[in-house]
Amino acid sequence: MDRLQLIKFASENEKLQQFARFLKRENLKYNLTAITGEEEIVSKHFYDSLAGANFLPQGANVCDIGSGAGFPVIPLALLREDCSFTGVDSTEKKVNFINAACAMLGISNCYAVHARAEDVCRSGRESFDVVTSRAVAGLSTLAEYCLPLLKAGGVMIAYKGSQAEEELEEAHTALQVLGGVSTGIYPYTLPTGEMRNLVIVEKRASTPEKYPRGGNKPRLKPIK
Ligand code: SAM
Repeated sequence: MDRLQLIKFASENEKLQQFARFLKRENLKYNLTAITGEEEIVSKHFYDSLAGANFLPQGANVCDIGSGAGFPVIPLALLREDCSFTGVDSTEKKVNFINAACAMLGISNCYAVHARAEDVCRSGRESFDVVTSRAVAGLSTLAEYCLPLLKAGGVMIAYKGSQAEEELEEAHTALQVLGGVSTGIYPYTLPTGEMRNLVIVEKRASTPEKYPRGGNKPRLKPIK
């Protein structure tokens, strides 16, 4: 889908509009997101989430790490009905929100689990075609959360802001150690004008069993 088609889907899809209403209502009770204006929700949550859609192979099994209030996982699940999605978040109220939204909207290809990424790596190791993540951690940390979950040949899609290139440079060793190779940074502009980047990392070699490390080490002591 090209940019205009994605903008149209983000702003006109009936289920996304219902989702926006549900998000605004539940946000008053649970404080799920700081983005609450209609135009901002469409641009900074919906369109931004959909930016990764063209990188999902047909029928992919996708895991989203740190899904929060459902981004990018819910917009992607609505656009890419051929794929199946698992959202992961360590905050229970957010997981409950995602599952309630999916039930309300009749989204049957998405389910969220309450867990830390490091723990999901044990049960779901090397079982996903794609792992997405937006606004969760620096790229080295993220690579340690995401790469163990990917099958060989699978793809990690990291949604990043303006510092993508610097983060990628810093994550050079981490990617090497974890079996990943960056295949590119893809810049795009939100309808509201801000620049964003997708960092795409392909898994080329098996991730050593010792990763991810426990004790919150991926975040406290990222691989350098
Ligand atoms: N991806 C969403 C978005 O872009 O709106 C949420 C971003 S929010 C800033 C980061 C989310 O990551 C939080 O909901 C937090 O609970 C979750 N998170 C942080 N570390 C995590 C971990 N190790 N495992 C699972 N979830 C994690």
